[in-house]
Amino acid sequence: MCEYCLETNMEDQLRGSDGVVYDTENQEYNLYVEHFRNERHWIPVNFCPQCGKKLTKER
Ligand SMILES: [Zn+2]
Repeated sequence: MCEYCLETNMEDQLRGSDGVVYDTENQEYNLYVEHFRNERHWIPVNFCPQCGKKLTKER
């Protein structure tokens, strides 16, 4: 695990940056990217793009 995929990551903390955020509602990981102000993207990911950690939660 690296800073990029910390389970404690929140969108507010990542403001202006990017990282992996866990969506508790849908129980999936999303790569949160903020390119410009008010332009945000959430991309579902199964692996951390930085350290390669598998991000799927066992249910
Ligand atoms: Zn990582």
